[in-house]
Amino acid sequence: MSEYKLETDSALETEQLAQKLATLLKPGDVVTLEGDLGAGKTTFTKGIANGLGVKRNVSSPTFTIIKEYEGELPLYHMDVYRLENSDEDIGFEEYFNGNGVSVVEWAQFIEEYLPDERLNIKINYVDEHTRELELRATSTHFEWVINELVS
Ligand code: ADP
Ligand code: MG
Repeated sequence: MSEYKLETDSALETEQLAQKLATLLKPGDVVTLEGDLGAGKTTFTKGIANGLGVKRNVSSPTFTIIKEYEGELPLYHMDVYRLENSDEDIGFEEYFNGNGVSVVEWAQFIEEYLPDERLNIKINYVDEHTRELELRATSTHFEWVINELVS
């Protein structure tokens, strides 16, 4: 479906973009993040958290896999890096069908559990301060989200 590419020139710019994205999301939305270590997935998630009004500091949940935060909508932050070579299902559906916003780092590792309707963001390293973000919507709702985000 619809795709859009853009660049950010700082971590702050990535956070601000993610913060704006958060204001366009609704309960049950799933945002999947792909990109190498240090690409900016957690930075992006922090921006989403800010936009959802999460007060606590968001840190990488690598060792817990899922962290839940209270905001105007709940945020379910997952980092499934450790599941690369496993098909362990740690109850993802409950989160994806829940009332919060799910944000999944390394989402490609749990492809089989991901819902069909999602906003996928691939973050590519360009240079020390620059990242290319590829936004891909797989539903009309997320097409609308992308249009609003970049307008
Ligand atoms: P990941 O979760 O993908 O491993 P992090 O968000 O933890 O990545 O780290 C990204 C690092 O890159 C941070 O140190 C951040 O400050 C830095 N950075 C530099 N430029 C950018 C940018 N344009 N967008 C996001 N992060 C950036
Ligand atoms: Mg991370």
